[in-house]
Amino acid sequence: MRSLLAKLNLAWALVLHFLKRPFQDNGYRAFLDHYRADRLVPLSHVDKTWLLRFSQCLNCGLCDAACPALDTLPRESFPGPSALVTTLTRATGDFWAAGVDLSLCEGCRNCESVCPNRVPVKEALEFIEAKALETARGTA
Ligand code: SF4
Ligand code: SF4
Repeated sequence: MRSLLAKLNLAWALVLHFLKRPFQDNGYRAFLDHYRADRLVPLSHVDKTWLLRFSQCLNCGLCDAACPALDTLPRESFPGPSALVTTLTRATGDFWAAGVDLSLCEGCRNCESVCPNRVPVKEALEFIEAKALETARGTA
């Protein structure tokens, strides 16, 4: 009899578990809220793959020397491809405060053709923009 009651109890707990499931927060929202103050957003597997590519930058500066945007713009508004790849891809939470205008990139890809490691700078800019928007949405 006790065994039957225990099994019924277990079965009832299982039924309740599945009934409540659609209404439960699986913790994802709480996880995001925990990092809200630091303006951190989750990184997908694809994001991590891109970060790995950006981390192949040697910081040699060859891309900056080949960047036409840096011939005319101050570094405060456009810091140049090497700084974007080495710094801003890892600090997208600070993007808006940095006051950088990514539209100032002319899209010529000179930076990539001179890069010894073929770091995808254009994709780095797109990554920064996407993550910065995601951060803004997450902290709004
Ligand atoms: S040329 Fe390539 S390796 Fe050198 S600083 Fe630019 S992105 Fe980095
Ligand atoms: S693609 Fe943008 S960052 Fe790269 S060299 Fe051209 S203007 Fe500079």
